[in-house]
Amino acid sequence: MIDSEHRRQAEALLRYINASPSPWHAATTAAEWLEEEGFQCLDERAPWELQESGRYYVIRDDSSLIAFIIGTNPLPQAGFRIVGAHTDSPGLRLKPNPLQQTDSLLRLGVEIYGSPILATWTDRDLSLAGRVALRTDTPEKPAVCLLDFGAPLLRLPNLAIHMNRKVNEEGLKLDPQTELPLLLAVSGEKAPTQDHFVQLLASHMDCDPHAILSWELNVYDTQTGAFWGQDQEFIASSRLDNLASCHAALSALISDDESTATRVCALFDHEEIGSESFKGASGSFLADILQRIGCALALDEESTRQALAASFLISADMAHAYQPNFDWGYDAGHKLIVNRGPAIKTNANVRYTSEAYSQALFIGWCEEAGVSWQHYCHRSNLPCGSTIGPIVSSRLGLRSIDIGNPLWAMHSIRESAGVKDHGDLIRVLERFFGSPAIPVNA
Ligand code: ZN
Repeated sequence: MIDSEHRRQAEALLRYINASPSPWHAATTAAEWLEEEGFQCLDERAPWELQESGRYYVIRDDSSLIAFIIGTNPLPQAGFRIVGAHTDSPGLRLKPNPLQQTDSLLRLGVEIYGSPILATWTDRDLSLAGRVALRTDTPEKPAVCLLDFGAPLLRLPNLAIHMNRKVNEEGLKLDPQTELPLLLAVSGEKAPTQDHFVQLLASHMDCDPHAILSWELNVYDTQTGAFWGQDQEFIASSRLDNLASCHAALSALISDDESTATRVCALFDHEEIGSESFKGASGSFLADILQRIGCALALDEESTRQALAASFLISADMAHAYQPNFDWGYDAGHKLIVNRGPAIKTNANVRYTSEAYSQALFIGWCEEAGVSWQHYCHRSNLPCGSTIGPIVSSRLGLRSIDIGNPLWAMHSIRESAGVKDHGDLIRVLERFFGSPAIPVNA
C-alpha cells in the first residue's frame, strides 16, 4: 500500500511534469517553485553577493538550472553536496520551415531529438510547446517567451493494418524524413507559405506575425499523468525520464531547513543528445557556478580545489525496470522491481560512475533514510546507456555515483514508474544533503 505522503509526492511530480511540456518549461516551472520557497535568481553577468544559508538559483539559456543553498559549514572542508539530473526528454522538434503541403493536407516537418521510441508517437493527441523570440526595438534584446498550445494540435495517424499487414510481426518502422511529418490541417490554398505557420504562432500568442523572429518547439503528448495499478501504486506520464529525478532533487533541496553543507541541484538540458553544449553537462555551467560560489565566499583557488575534493555528486537518472514479458532484455541478477527502491547503476567501463566507495556511502544514506535499494547492471551482450554522471564527475574531479528509480518503457511517449520509489528517492537525497559536514571522501 502507498502511504499518503508518497501519494502526495507523486501527485506533485505529475503536476510538475504536466506544467513542463518542454525543457524550457521544466526550468521555468522549477524557477517558479524555487521562488515560492525563498530562492533568489542570480544573473551570471552580474557580480554575486551570497549569504550564509542563502538560497539561490541560476538559469542558463532558459533550460538548464542550478539551484543551491549556502551551508553554514566551511566550504573547503565540507565541500559541495550535488545532485545532478536532466531537464530534456527525447522526442520530436519542429524544423525552422516546417510547413509541407501534400495534396490538400498540411503537415509539419520534424527532427528527431535524442532516441525516442518513435512508434509510441503515433495516434497520440500531440501539441507544441517551447520558446519563441520576439522582435523589440533593440536587436540585442529580443523578448523570449514560452509558448504552449495546450490543446491537441497535431497527430501522427498510424497506417491501417490493411495496408501494413505485417505490423504485428515486424513492428512499426517509421522513416524519419517521409513518415514522421505531423498532420495539422486540410487546406484549400494552393501552396501555403511558411507564413501560414508563423500566423498560427502569432494568433496563439496574440502578437503581430512580423514580431516573431525565431523559435524552438517541442512536440509533446497532451495526455496528463495518471496513477494506475491494483493499488494505484504506479504512475504513467511523458518525460518521467528525467523530470522525475529533477523533481526529487528539488524536493529534497527545498525540504532542507538546517543548511550545514552547501547543497546544489544541477539540472541540465541536452543530456539526451550527448550533453555537448554551453548549457549541457559537458559545458562549463556547473564548474562556473561552483567557482562563482567559491569567489563570492572569498575562497582562494586552493580552498576552492579543497572544496571540490571534499564534494560528492549523485547523478540521478531513471533506470530500466524489469518487464517480465521481455525477460530476454535483462540480466538475471539485476532485475529492478518497481517500488523496491532506487537502483545503484554500475558499469565496468564507467558508463556509470558508481564505484565501491561511492556505493558504500549511498547504501549508508539509504539505510539511514529507511529506504531499500537495488543494483542495476545491463546485459553484457547489449550496449549500456550513460548519463551526466561520468561527464560531470570527470570534468570537475568529483567523486560520484549514478543512481535512478526503476522506469518501464524508457523513451516511450508514456513511461511508467513507482509511486513509492519517487518518495523514497526524495528521502535518500534529503539524507545525502543533510549528511554531516565532514569531507565525504575522507
Ligand atoms: Zn535520462
